[in-house]
Amino acid sequence: MHELSYVVRFADRAIAIAEEQHAVSVRKLVVQIGEMTDVLPEYLQKYYPEVTDGTILEGSVLETEPLPAKVRCSSCGTEYHPEKETGYLCPVCGSGAGKVLEGRHVVLKEVILDS
Ligand SMILES: [Zn+2]
Repeated sequence: MHELSYVVRFADRAIAIAEEQHAVSVRKLVVQIGEMTDVLPEYLQKYYPEVTDGTILEGSVLETEPLPAKVRCSSCGTEYHPEKETGYLCPVCGSGAGKVLEGRHVVLKEVILDS
C-alpha cells in the first residue's frame, strides 16, 4: 500500500502551491491515476482527510480520474492503448516491444484554490 505516501506527497505539493498563491483555502485537488499502477482511488480518498486535517487543505475535495495507458511501439512508432484482448501488442505491426508513455504514474494534475 503506497497510497498513503502519494497522499502525503500531493498534500505537501498542494500546500506549497496554496502558500505561493496566497490562497485562503483550497477547494479541490485533481489526481490522475495511471491505468498501469495498482493504486486504488478509494484508499487515496480514505487517507486524504487524515493527512489534510489541520492544514489549509482541510475540507477540500480529492478528485481522482483514471489516466489511460499509452504505449509507443518501438518497431513502427504507433502510439496505442494496450488492450488485454490483443495481448498488449501493437495493433498495427503486432510487436510487443514498446515504451510506456503514460499510465504508469499517479500525478497531481490540478490544485483548485479559493482566493
Ligand atoms: Zn508497431
